[in-house]
Amino acid sequence: MNIRVRIAPSPTGPLHIGTARTALFNYLFARTNNGKFLLRIEDTDRTRSTEAFEKDILTGLKWLGLQWDEEIVHQSKRLEVYQKVADSLVKAGHAYQKEGATYFRIPPHLENRSTVLFTDLVRGAMAFELKDIIDFVIMKSDGHPTYHLAVVVDDQETRITHVIRGEDHLTNAPKHILLQHALGYAVPYYAHLPLIVNKDRTKMSKRRDPVSVSRDFRDQGYLPEAMLNFIALLGWNPGGGSEQEFFTLAELEKAFQIEHVGGSPSVFEPTRLDFFNAHYLRARTPTALLAQLKVFTKLPEATDEFLLRVVTVVKDRLITLSDFVRFTAYFFKTPPLTKAPLVFHKSTLADSFRGLSAAIEALEKAPADTWESIDALNHVLAETVKRATLNNGDVFWPVRVALSAESASPSPAELLWVLGKIESLKRLKEGIRALEKQTRLG
Ligand code: GLU
Repeated sequence: MNIRVRIAPSPTGPLHIGTARTALFNYLFARTNNGKFLLRIEDTDRTRSTEAFEKDILTGLKWLGLQWDEEIVHQSKRLEVYQKVADSLVKAGHAYQKEGATYFRIPPHLENRSTVLFTDLVRGAMAFELKDIIDFVIMKSDGHPTYHLAVVVDDQETRITHVIRGEDHLTNAPKHILLQHALGYAVPYYAHLPLIVNKDRTKMSKRRDPVSVSRDFRDQGYLPEAMLNFIALLGWNPGGGSEQEFFTLAELEKAFQIEHVGGSPSVFEPTRLDFFNAHYLRARTPTALLAQLKVFTKLPEATDEFLLRVVTVVKDRLITLSDFVRFTAYFFKTPPLTKAPLVFHKSTLADSFRGLSAAIEALEKAPADTWESIDALNHVLAETVKRATLNNGDVFWPVRVALSAESASPSPAELLWVLGKIESLKRLKEGIRALEKQTRLG
């Protein structure tokens, strides 16, 4: 069988995380089966569909690396096709007109058979009572098809073999199967993916929850590979007792099996996404990460050499790309020394003063190449502690705070390495002045 699948988003909102997951699973199903992955834009709802939303969907899919095969199908350009099919259904007695609309008639010969049966690749054997399905509209009075008709016609024309979509469409499947029978179409395989829910098991809401791939994830500094890894595990698992949690798209293209998609709701856990994002950020080389940061945001004015050093020391602490600008302001602009205490809670004003003065002296004397190595700078500080018979907190702490004004930052040696001798000593001496002021006030 030549496997062909599709996603069929409606451009009535930005790319939704649920649609992104449906796209990923379809894409992976196509790739693992040497098949084709198609994209269809279901834009027959003229009042709610916009070009901007369509663009958001296309750029979002490309950003994730989910490139579709073949040309995009736009339903809005195929109104005549649907009209023809609707007319043929009327002619064959499968549909009728009422108040300007065309209705599909539940076939009378099915009345003594009470259920529509099909096997869902995720949920197993499904049975729907025919008595629950009443005649439904396939063509609206304004000449636009309903979703049910358009989806069935397009899946047939594009020779879709497997319909993999969200569980919210499960109850539509019997209607689609009835239409497929009436039209003499082949019935595709169906696979309905579990809902994505919040931690408290409520449905994710467009207004309240992070659901837009572009606005809530890409623009917040999440990486596409982290998103993919995260959404792949929303419903799918590698099976076979595997504990593997990191998957690149290429690895997923080998490992994915629709049989390993579970039927129970998938819980959206934001800290999991953060975990994956931090992992993929750490895996970047400083050069690659700097290039990506430049595309993502406007960085402060500085040389590439300086920026690279900043990236090197903060890389492992970032959760998102946007953390970079948030966490690094003090490298680019001398911070006011009021944000964090210069005296460690286990130290005293006098010992901190001695510690900081000794550090300045040692750093001033250190050979020039000390400033090229974080280890060498760390060694100078450690030696200072020993020589002055002080504690680490009397030296490392005031050095850190004088350089960054933060109590949580890269290590003092890393700060020295980034800022360089001139700027570091300037800030450290500023720290001395601040301590002197405290002495006078105390
Ligand atoms: N336009 C539908 C949606 O957005 C497509 C459903 C289907 O795949 O059949 O969910």
